[in-house]
Amino acid sequence: MTLLDVQKLSIEYRLSDGKLRAVDQVSLKLESGDVLGLVGESGCGKSTLVKGIINLLPSNGRIIEGDIVFEDVVLNKLSKESMRKKRWKEISLITQSAMNSLNPVYRVGDQIAEVIIEHEKVGKRSAMEKAEELFDLVGLDRGRLQDYPHQFSGGMKQRAIIAMSLALNPKLIIADEPTTALDVIVQSQILERMNNLLKGYSGSMILVTHDVSVVAQTCTKVAVMYGGKIVEYGDVVQVLKKPNHPYTMGLKNAFPSLIGEKRELVSISGTPPDLSKEILGCRFAERCPFVIERCKGMSLEKTEVENGYFYCIRHAEKEELRKRADLPETWESEV
Ligand code: ATP
Ligand code: MG
Repeated sequence: MTLLDVQKLSIEYRLSDGKLRAVDQVSLKLESGDVLGLVGESGCGKSTLVKGIINLLPSNGRIIEGDIVFEDVVLNKLSKESMRKKRWKEISLITQSAMNSLNPVYRVGDQIAEVIIEHEKVGKRSAMEKAEELFDLVGLDRGRLQDYPHQFSGGMKQRAIIAMSLALNPKLIIADEPTTALDVIVQSQILERMNNLLKGYSGSMILVTHDVSVVAQTCTKVAVMYGGKIVEYGDVVQVLKKPNHPYTMGLKNAFPSLIGEKRELVSISGTPPDLSKEILGCRFAERCPFVIERCKGMSLEKTEVENGYFYCIRHAEKEELRKRADLPETWESEV
């Protein structure tokens, strides 16, 4: 069953001297049970996209076209109050600055219990029992439920927010780099536990991360974002094994452990484009080792593949490009 259908969504920020299109005509679909990894370099529009989905854009941000359909409801047309009712219960968001979203004047346990009581109409005692279970799940000591947020370390706060986001078994969890303050082992442990919990009731997740190896371990689908656009989308195994977009090829190279190879990390030189300026043609052209004249200054061409799509006009030469992308010198010399 389709849970989330984002249709041609564009989001702009108003700037003092113009505007910036952080998300440009993004479409994606999530079925119940899907875990979607959203990857891409800093500034590509990942947080803007997920904030737009859940109606939490800052005041200078605005959806300028497109719809977000969650089950049968068009989220971007909901009132603030109706949207608030859906939060935590149906969709929960763990923001990139989640650590700061605990209220400093209430005990952490009470804050989690309050979310449970408000939506599930249960008593304080059973809400606290549930909070204890959630603390076990995210690896926090139950005794710490009595603490105030300032008594928690950054990583502990982050885990408490993860616990809160899981409290009501939401149909969709949107997690924007939820484990950045945690060390690698704890990070993968928590993601695995979240995943198991979601599997138990066919819950879905959008996981925003810079780390392609986390996507490989955790997700069923992946959307690769570059310069405000999803440049490649599809099943994780398919996309990471046989990437079709040169940007995905480059990102994958930055995680050699993915293919079990011991070799040096190869990065893509240059930086993502300035989104406050209009860009014609492929946004990656500037940095792409396979750029040809046709890539610039023309409209984008979408190629549909099984369960996904990508935008690259050199689609007929994929095999060849993939081989070249595997060679470190491709990324060193030609850009
Ligand atoms: P990161 O990986 O660093 O979290 P991101 O992919 O989440 O990056 P966004 O935070 O969505 O990227 O930013 C996308 C673009 O929108 C960037 O160019 C950023 O400068 C711009 N942007 C983000 N928030 C605002 C804002 N409130 N006002 C104006 N521009 C913004
Ligand atoms: Mg972000």
